[in-house]
Amino acid sequence: MESFDYFEAQSVEEVIAVLNKGENKSRIIAGGTDILLHVRAGLISPNCLVSIKQIESLKGIIKKDDGRIEIGAATNLTNVEQSELLHLNYQLIADAARSIGSRQIRNLATIGGNNCSAVPSADTAPALLASEAEVRIQSSLGFREMPLSDFFVGPKTTILDHDSLLLNFSLPKVMENTGSVYMRFCPRGAMNLPIVSVAVLIALESDLFHIKKSRVALGGVAKVPLRALETESILEGQIISQELINLASNATASSINPISDHRATKEFRYRLAKELTARSILKAIQRAKVE
Ligand SMILES: Cc1cc2nc3c(=O)[nH]c(=O)nc-3n(C[C@H](O)[C@H](O)[C@H](O)COP(=O)(O)OP(=O)(O)OC[C@H]3O[C@@H](n4cnc5c(N)ncnc54)[C@H](O)[C@@H]3O)c2cc1C
Repeated sequence: MESFDYFEAQSVEEVIAVLNKGENKSRIIAGGTDILLHVRAGLISPNCLVSIKQIESLKGIIKKDDGRIEIGAATNLTNVEQSELLHLNYQLIADAARSIGSRQIRNLATIGGNNCSAVPSADTAPALLASEAEVRIQSSLGFREMPLSDFFVGPKTTILDHDSLLLNFSLPKVMENTGSVYMRFCPRGAMNLPIVSVAVLIALESDLFHIKKSRVALGGVAKVPLRALETESILEGQIISQELINLASNATASSINPISDHRATKEFRYRLAKELTARSILKAIQRAKVE
C-alpha cells in the first residue's frame, strides 16, 4: 500500500479546496468502510484522503419549515436507523439502514458513502429512490441539486466529479396515510449485500381503499438501483386487491435487467424481484392503514 496524506477538513469549503488542489488524486473519506478496503487492496492509490467527519453541517436529520426532511450525507447509519423523524415519515429508510452490516459497521458507515460507492445493491439507495430523494452537491463550479435517480451512472459510478462533495438528501413532505417498507433477500443474512432488494412507499386516499400514490424501487437487478415506473402506474388510482398487487409485481420485469453471477442467476433475480415487490406492496399498505 502506498503512503498518503490524511486531512481532517473543518468545513465544506476546505473539502472542495483540498480536492481541487489534489487534481483527481485526493479522495473523500467518510466512515471509511468502503474506501479503506479499496486502498488496502491497491484498487485506488490516492495522494490524500480528506475526512469529512468533523463537519457538523453534513450530519443529522432535520425537518424543514415546509415539511421536507434533510439527511446529511455524513450521518452514520446507526443515526439513520434510530431516527424518530424517519420512523414517523420514511420508515423504509430506517429499515434499509438497519439491514446493513453489523452495529460496528453502522456506527462508522454513512448514508452518503453508501450511495457514493454506487454499488447496484447498496441498501439505502432503493429506499431513498422510493422516497423521491433529491441530492445536493457542492463543487468548485458551485451548488447543484438533482433527483437521486440521475445520480447513479453505472456500477460504482456516479455523476460526481473529482472535486464534488455530496451535502445531503432532501425528501418531500410526506402525504397523509402513507406507509413504506424496505425488504431484501440475502441468504447469508447480515454482513452482506442483498441479492435483490425492494423499497415501496404507498399513500392511500382518505377512504383507505384507493391507492393515491405509489413509489417502487429495486436494487441488485440492473447496473444501477432504479424505480419500477410501470409497477407504480399500475397501482396508482386503483382499489386495493390481491389481483392488483399480483399484476403490479409481475410488471417489475419490464423495468429491470438483472445479470447472472456467482451469487444468483438472472432468472432467480427476476423471481425474487416479483416476490419481494408483492410482499413489500402488501406490507406498505398495512403500514399506511395504521399510520
Ligand atoms: C463487513 C461489511 C459489511 C457490509 N454490509 C453492507 C450491507 O449489508 N449493505 C450495504 O449496502 N453495504 C454494506 N457494506 C458497505 C459499506 O459499509 C457501505 O457502503 C457504507 O455505507 C459506505 O459509507 P462510508 O461512510 O464508510 O463511506 P467511505 O468508505 O468513507 O466512502 C465510500 C466512497 O464514497 C465517497 N464518499 C463518501 N462520502 C462522500 C460524500 N459526502 N461526497 C462525495 N463522496 C463521498 C468516498 O470518496 C468513497 O469513494 C458493508 C461493508 C463491510 C466492511
